[in-house]
Amino acid sequence: MNNFFLDFRDPLFSIIIFLALIFAITFLSYWWGRYKTKGNSKELDKFLQQFHALPTENELKILISSGELSQKSWLLLANSYTKSGDFEKAIEIYLEILRLPSRHNEKETMFLLGKVYFKAGFLERAKQIFLEILHTAPRTPQALHSLLLVYEYLRDYKSALKVLEPLDELNEAIQKDEIYLKNLALLHDSEKTQAEKTTEILALYKKHHQLKYMVFEYLFANDPALAWEHFDGSSGELLIDILWNLPPKALNLAIITKNDFLRELYTARGDVALSSSSTLFELDVLIKLQNTPLHANLSFEYSCSQCKQSYPFAFKRCSHCHAIDTQTVQWSIVKNYHTIFNEETDSFQ
Ligand SMILES: [Zn+2]
Repeated sequence: MNNFFLDFRDPLFSIIIFLALIFAITFLSYWWGRYKTKGNSKELDKFLQQFHALPTENELKILISSGELSQKSWLLLANSYTKSGDFEKAIEIYLEILRLPSRHNEKETMFLLGKVYFKAGFLERAKQIFLEILHTAPRTPQALHSLLLVYEYLRDYKSALKVLEPLDELNEAIQKDEIYLKNLALLHDSEKTQAEKTTEILALYKKHHQLKYMVFEYLFANDPALAWEHFDGSSGELLIDILWNLPPKALNLAIITKNDFLRELYTARGDVALSSSSTLFELDVLIKLQNTPLHANLSFEYSCSQCKQSYPFAFKRCSHCHAIDTQTVQWSIVKNYHTIFNEETDSFQ
């Protein structure tokens, strides 16, 4: 029986003890390593989590009032929130800064708050802020321009036109704004008939020769005969998308025949066969494709000549830089899904 157990003086016993110690040490260091990694990872997660969630309104209130960060830092932070589209956070920061006892940069902060309200679509609040700024500092052109925009977006064109008076006194360029707002006021006047509107918008155009795209877009949509009558032969490229999308019944063949650009444009569209080529690449390709089964169309893209912002739709005032009549139109050839679909539908009948 005694032979069954090893004697502690036996060398084999020492080896077993040695191996057991190695195992215990390895096991302990493995678990210690895992425990440390888990601990470090938890700490890092906890630290990073602070940046995943935005500070609450209360946290912002405490942070801003504690004065640990300078006002400039908060303004920079609010600006980056605005740029990333988090208008709510930017508004909270501006409001908290305005609640501080120090009146440092009050007008500037109010102006920034008004601009964020405008961007976020709180037009009434933006209006109140700009009016408040102008109440104490009436000679602030930036606030006047912003107030004009707010009135325009609110479709209160009468008030917007009134804002032009102090801007004029401050020697700001207002002519384009004035004509644009008068056009808008006229087109949205529910008491005027369509005939009155076309007559008056044309009269305004003849007087100033401004906002040609806006005027002819309205004329071609509502009175194509009158639009053709006043169509200036050199405006083809400026109005290319309007002309391209005119219904066939609105075309004036007498005028089209006399104008190189219009001949090429409507030959490319397939309404007439008056040109065999064009100096414009896209029109030239479309003219060459007329007798082939390929279906192609023109697609238009719009950009602002001032800020270079691109849009898939036509605009009169750039919503990015707010400049008026800075639209340029670019065109390209695309597949004409409309005719392809029509042909496929016909073939099923
Ligand atoms: Zn622009």
